[in-house]
Amino acid sequence: MTRILVVEDDADLALALRTLLGRAGYQVLHSPDGREALRRLFADRPDLMVLDLGLPGLDGWQVLERTRDLTDLPVLLLTARGAEADRVRGLRAGADDYLPKPFGQQELLARIEALLRRSGPADWAAGKPRDAALHLVPERRAVLWHGAEVRLSDIEYRLVRTLVRNRGRVVTTEQLLEQVWDDPVGVGRDRVKFAVLRVRRKLQQGSGRHADDPVEAVRGLGYRYQEEDGREGGG
Ligand code: CA
Repeated sequence: MTRILVVEDDADLALALRTLLGRAGYQVLHSPDGREALRRLFADRPDLMVLDLGLPGLDGWQVLERTRDLTDLPVLLLTARGAEADRVRGLRAGADDYLPKPFGQQELLARIEALLRRSGPADWAAGKPRDAALHLVPERRAVLWHGAEVRLSDIEYRLVRTLVRNRGRVVTTEQLLEQVWDDPVGVGRDRVKFAVLRVRRKLQQGSGRHADDPVEAVRGLGYRYQEEDGREGGG
């Protein structure tokens, strides 16, 4: 069962969210403040977090920052209506989507479904290097590649994340379209190819290592992220 952590101090809104999400078939965990939210997050490892920005004690920004030190689970921010600056800051800080209050129930459910569909299982070791050469930095939509920070677009970051999560296995072009692009309808297969080329170029420019390419094209099928010891020309 998909579990959603709702971080909201307003008791009425929290109850409404629990009821709505529960009826939609999700298991709902609730935290009324930031510190308790971080405890729940680490202890229960939910699949998605709905995070109110205005919280007592630790505010939503601090919760988001600490969350991103640990995991790349999808985060939907609840912001005040019209607070455009919050939206931009939220997306930069690593939120995946935002919804201004008050919001419609159907819109909330649709956004949650979309986030879950495109994010896959959360990586709870996002803050720790697993491949000596490549390290995801979810809070900045960047990767560390041979120690150099390489900034990526949203699509490019999701592409790398998807390939890294499936390390060693081929991910088909269709799977990439489904998991990386928000709305793959009408998006051609060439878009995947060009995004891979952009990622490669950025990695090479960032690190100055032109021989070491972790993204392998598998003809007619898709792409595969190769671990460091499976790559040629590394070292
Ligand atoms: Ca609040």
